[in-house]
Amino acid sequence: MRYVIIGAGVAGISAVEAIRSVDSDGEIIMVSDDPYGYYSRPGLAYYLTGELEDKALFPRTKEHYQKLNFNFLKARVTRILRSDHAVLVDGKSKLVYNKLLIAVGARAMPLGVAGANLEGVVKLDHLADAKHILKLAKRGKTLLARGMKVNYLLRGDRYWSNVLDKHESHVVEERLTEEGVVLHHKAELKEVIGKKGHVVGAMLVDGRTLKCDMLAYAVGISPCMELMEETNLAKDRGLLVNEHLQTTDLDIYAAGDVAQVYDPLSGKSALDSLWSPAHEQGRVAGWNMAGRKAAYLKSAPFNVTRLAGLTTTIIGTVGRGKDEDLIGIARGDSETWRELPEAIIAQSGFDVNHMRLMVGEKTLVGAILMGDQTLSWPLQKMIAGKADISSIREQIMATDAPLADLVAQFWMTWRTEEAL
Ligand SMILES: Cc1cc2nc3c(=O)[nH]c(=O)nc-3n(C[C@H](O)[C@H](O)[C@H](O)COP(=O)(O)OP(=O)(O)OC[C@H]3O[C@@H](n4cnc5c(N)ncnc54)[C@H](O)[C@@H]3O)c2cc1C
Repeated sequence: MRYVIIGAGVAGISAVEAIRSVDSDGEIIMVSDDPYGYYSRPGLAYYLTGELEDKALFPRTKEHYQKLNFNFLKARVTRILRSDHAVLVDGKSKLVYNKLLIAVGARAMPLGVAGANLEGVVKLDHLADAKHILKLAKRGKTLLARGMKVNYLLRGDRYWSNVLDKHESHVVEERLTEEGVVLHHKAELKEVIGKKGHVVGAMLVDGRTLKCDMLAYAVGISPCMELMEETNLAKDRGLLVNEHLQTTDLDIYAAGDVAQVYDPLSGKSALDSLWSPAHEQGRVAGWNMAGRKAAYLKSAPFNVTRLAGLTTTIIGTVGRGKDEDLIGIARGDSETWRELPEAIIAQSGFDVNHMRLMVGEKTLVGAILMGDQTLSWPLQKMIAGKADISSIREQIMATDAPLADLVAQFWMTWRTEEAL
């Protein structure tokens, strides 16, 4: 049996681990065009601010890879040849598979304005991008974490408007402003201005021009779909897979940012751009590829991240509709967050320590926690586990309810009952 995995991201690696947990003999070949192999992509932001060294981005040891006993091919897959059960590597050699996993991730959507190719126009997909930004920052005069001046253009009238509410956006924006970031709302880029091939400014649609040495863009991401063009595999915004992570060709699987996974509970196929779902999908795909039948059940998506230095947990459905800033899904984002839940909002804390709960008929369907993270884990468990909160629902909904105490007390009882 030969397994071929395209992509050395978290989905690809967890698939290798899962295959090996079932099949100790099969041949596994991983093909990836990232010269740095597997590393933490969410960690790239902290690498940029100088909080993490590049060594800390690599979560697996050499010994671990040796134990997994797979071959790593640093190359690019340029075509999938379904009728030959093979992939074309670097446009020349054929690599035959019995089972194939496509785990090629997603990439930043292009800027799409004149001057986008100038030196100094950057995005953050890979470790190579982060290294490039740091190299330029040494020369330029921008990048806040290095004591430089930053202008932040937002197409909408507030930060992350379809996930955060007005208050939450305000808290983040206030912190950014305090740190010296200059926010420009309703500001749209028209053109990047260059001189001798290098960016020197940004011209906005309203006619203003901002001088800069570097221009970073993050207007959304899209699954890397070019390999699928000639394959006839069913696709939508991403590559469509069933709950076993199989595409419409049952020997070809997909997992992670590239996959649009069918959720039997909601009957929908959604995109996530989150580390944990990619990890879990890779695992389920790997098991199925190796013959252990397993289904991926979408859990309430969550992310623990830092927004302007403020630790924030986002769980389940918290959405507010359309976001003017993004063309598509963002990094570290879930389409599910944007769904408008049938829920009533309960919230407490209107400073940096803030909690918003989306309260359904009998369960909590979403939550946002900013600052104090004591209840992050309990809320993740309670929302994912669909805990019946009927007994405290009325108290939660009361004006000035002590939300944190109510949730903490409920959690203690629920956790004990769940364990029994
Ligand atoms: C800056 C940044 C911050 C993020 N922050 C968060 C966060 O806070 N929380 C969170 O949950 N998620 C976050 N994410 C998202 C998270 O990292 C991704 O959801 C996750 O890495 C997806 O894993 P993947 O394996 O699907 O794809 P990837 O990690 O993108 O890996 C894809 C792999 O495929 C390879 N590849 C692509 N095409 C080919 C080809 N044709 N041939 C060979 N190899 C190919 C690539 O080189 C790469 O190795 C962040 C991502 C970035 C970039």
